[in-house]
Amino acid sequence: MNDDPAGPSPENPGPQASGRRDSRIHPARMGHPAGSVTRPGAPPIYQTAAFDVPDLEVLDAISSGTVIGDIYTRDSNPNHRALAETIALLEGAESGAVFASGMGAAAGIFLTLAGQNDHVILSRSLYGKTMQLAAEMQQKYGLEISWFDPTNPEQLRVLLKSRTRFVLVETVSNPLLNVADISALAEELPDSVPLIVDATFTTPELVRPCLLGASLVFHSASKYLNGHGDVMLGVAAGRAELIRKLRDTASLFGQNAGPFESWLCQRGLRTLGLRMRQICETTNVLARQLRSHPAVRKLYHPLLPDHPSYPTASRLYPRGTGGILTVELAGSQNDPVRQFMKLADTIPFSPTLADARTTISHPATTSHRFLSDAERLSLGITRDLIRISVGLESVDQLLEEFVSVLDQIH
Ligand SMILES: *Cc1c(COP(=O)(O)O)cnc(C)c1O
Repeated sequence: MNDDPAGPSPENPGPQASGRRDSRIHPARMGHPAGSVTRPGAPPIYQTAAFDVPDLEVLDAISSGTVIGDIYTRDSNPNHRALAETIALLEGAESGAVFASGMGAAAGIFLTLAGQNDHVILSRSLYGKTMQLAAEMQQKYGLEISWFDPTNPEQLRVLLKSRTRFVLVETVSNPLLNVADISALAEELPDSVPLIVDATFTTPELVRPCLLGASLVFHSASKYLNGHGDVMLGVAAGRAELIRKLRDTASLFGQNAGPFESWLCQRGLRTLGLRMRQICETTNVLARQLRSHPAVRKLYHPLLPDHPSYPTASRLYPRGTGGILTVELAGSQNDPVRQFMKLADTIPFSPTLADARTTISHPATTSHRFLSDAERLSLGITRDLIRISVGLESVDQLLEEFVSVLDQIH
């Protein structure tokens, strides 16, 4: 048997040819380059399951938190820690944590903060899978849920109970883009009830909920934070004692992210400011230009005066609310959504958002599919709605493409 992966060849007979090989040599023990006096400009990827600990004293010191170190990647890894610290800094929060997906972060929050017979207050218009998660917690673990409209913070007064463990809202709701007034919500709550904010749609470039009174903010980093449509990841930031508990849950339930995904998101964050600025500018222009097209029955964007959240949005988000734009197409009898998708062959139908490219989605059959027709209509989600997630293409190119499609379906 030959242990050298390259294998000996007639030209390169390998160490065996000249005599017995040192029996301590094995490729499984190699791969660490000799020490260098320089360090890489981009962070390395620590693609490892475990870390070698020098001795028992160091193990004790890491475990008790007196020195920083990693032991096992399910618990922590330098790529997780780097990303968690970056997110905490961007959010102006005490501490951060990383999860395998946005749903990992949401599940971690429910598992950590809400137990049997506890009560939580949730926005009526949460991301579809978060609502399903809450329903599962209700059925399996007896969690009691009150649903409310986060654009109406006074509702919290009558819903709060002594068993209320948290209030959960999104900065901007999907797909009709109602904007939560985070400070007003926080003011309604006693210190013992954390306000938790899913800020996936807005990112810390547009709003930093922890500075407005929220205790915890979380994101699907699969969306804008990574920003390139190639990673599943979740992050949370907030009060240190809450984050510590979330990290323990992530370790126990195996929710931690992989080092490579954390590294990719860290790279994506390098351009977050640039991307969000361009995406907001493009979206604002598209909203103003497309709203009066005859093929558009209604266009939802919070910075247009006819949107119900206009006053809150123009106060909280003067530069933009992100890249989501929702359009109700006119002409229901011709199934305009089907026509739109067929004609818009340069703009993919993709049931996600916040890719670098512009994508469209159909809320009635994707994000809100699990609701009944009546439930969907009560939320205002008709079959004729399409949700546009604006990407990094130029505004001129996108205007041309959308107007050309709309011209043809009318
Ligand atoms: C996508 C999304 C999630 C879920 O995140 P994943 O990374 O897909 O698990 C949660 N909240 C919002 C608002 C989202 O858009």
